[in-house]
Amino acid sequence: MVEFVKLTATLTLDDYAATADLVGAVHELRAEADDVLPWFKGRSVVMLNSTAKGGGVAEMLPRIVQMLNELGITAHWAAMGIEHPDFFKFTKRLHNLIHGEGDPVLSLDDRKLYDEVNRSVADQLRPHLKPEDLLIVHDPQPLGAGAILKRELGLRAIWRCHIGLDAHLLATRAAWSFMQPYLETYDHSVFSAPEYIPNYLAGRASVIHPGIDPLSHKNRFLRPNKLTGILCNAGLVVEHAPVLAPPFPQKVQRLQPDGSFGAATLPDEIGFLYRPIVTEISRWDRLKGFGPLLAGFVRLKQKLHQTASLHPRHRQRLEIVRLVLAGPDPDSVQDDPESRETLEELRHQFCALDPKFQRDIALLSLPMDSRKNNELIVNALQRCAVLVAQNSIREGFGLTVTEAMWKGTPVMGTEACGIREQIRDGIDGRLVRNPEDPLEIADLLDEMLSDYPERERWARNAQKRAYTEFLVFAQMQRWLRVLTECAALPRRERIVGHTRHIPVPA
Ligand code: UDP
Repeated sequence: MVEFVKLTATLTLDDYAATADLVGAVHELRAEADDVLPWFKGRSVVMLNSTAKGGGVAEMLPRIVQMLNELGITAHWAAMGIEHPDFFKFTKRLHNLIHGEGDPVLSLDDRKLYDEVNRSVADQLRPHLKPEDLLIVHDPQPLGAGAILKRELGLRAIWRCHIGLDAHLLATRAAWSFMQPYLETYDHSVFSAPEYIPNYLAGRASVIHPGIDPLSHKNRFLRPNKLTGILCNAGLVVEHAPVLAPPFPQKVQRLQPDGSFGAATLPDEIGFLYRPIVTEISRWDRLKGFGPLLAGFVRLKQKLHQTASLHPRHRQRLEIVRLVLAGPDPDSVQDDPESRETLEELRHQFCALDPKFQRDIALLSLPMDSRKNNELIVNALQRCAVLVAQNSIREGFGLTVTEAMWKGTPVMGTEACGIREQIRDGIDGRLVRNPEDPLEIADLLDEMLSDYPERERWARNAQKRAYTEFLVFAQMQRWLRVLTECAALPRRERIVGHTRHIPVPA
């Protein structure tokens, strides 16, 4: 059953405006919204996605819907609420095909099933919609329902795609051809990067980057005593003095030289408060490039012993620098055999290392029992790092990069599509060209670690860029522009190209 999801109270725009570093962004957003409000009189914006719980889209939607309402635009969130295992098996296949993986042959039965479910969703949603409304459909699952509602009610419909691949393969072509008849019905589409727009939508799509919430537990500022408290509560440092809060129920676990997981402070403290630390935090996915990063770090340490002519300060830095690779507790991803395999490969890679290199590499499993605690740990780890590495071989967008940029931690990324959308090489950070080449990774780590002024410059630029481009306010401003263009469309006309200025109705 389609469900209209109730929003539970989150932070309001006033809360953001109460902080010195965000007041400007909120002010700009409000001013832009005030200009376009007349277009939305008497109409609603309805967001439709597959599920009310689980996944990045369901996490992001409440904030967008709430902000639209706060800005004066009536907005609702509807979830498909379908419990049809075959349907989700099929849409998962479609999802994988968009990422270039899986059997590209989609049958007539697949389409029949997809159409049936989407017809039922459209029928359930229709009584709640008016022809003046704007429907925003997220990802492939409810795409068909949006097309039906667009045709039958004549409302304005936009498709928001949160996934994509910057390559044209047999698999991607199969998915995009399957979706073409539905997509052609829509007024407009929105993607996370220009490379993800299929050819047949060229000129009828916009790019909106995802945005992070600067006041969430994952991104908010942490005072030194709070940050130290989190590290203590999570078992990442030994309590040398009393801390305010009790320990987290589940602590971070660290891979031990014998291949088992144990306390993160064994066999010694990692040194979060003292040492330069290079940190990558991601899901345990081969495409996140953990393996080559680990090999590159070992190479960097080897170089230290082979090079006689190092500046003493840099030598000391390379002596004490450590690498942290962190990801979710494997027990929380039991239904994901690929991530267990990746972790297993890393375990082997680590166990095969000379103990003198093992000592300087910590592979951490982060507890997932409490979302808040997990977010606080991620926040603290990103803030403690001298460099955040995101050595992705492929990356849809890479929120971990945005999170580090916003915190002012310098980033070493790669040229994977989502990362190069965020970091301009040499301006906001540095990009590895070949994330599978440990030698190149070692050289770039060395270069970045040796140059303190440049690191600071990249970090400052990255933070500014995150502020203007990748916070939730920038995302909302882009949504306002797309929604206004769509609201201003004469019936049966479509938006062409990127957004332009729309005059306000009298
Ligand atoms: N993340 C987390 N806990 C972990 C590992 C990752 O909260 O143990 C978060 C990370 O901070 C980021 C998100 O998961 O916000 C991953 O998003 P990203 O776009 O980087 O990659 P994806 O996982 O979507 O491929």
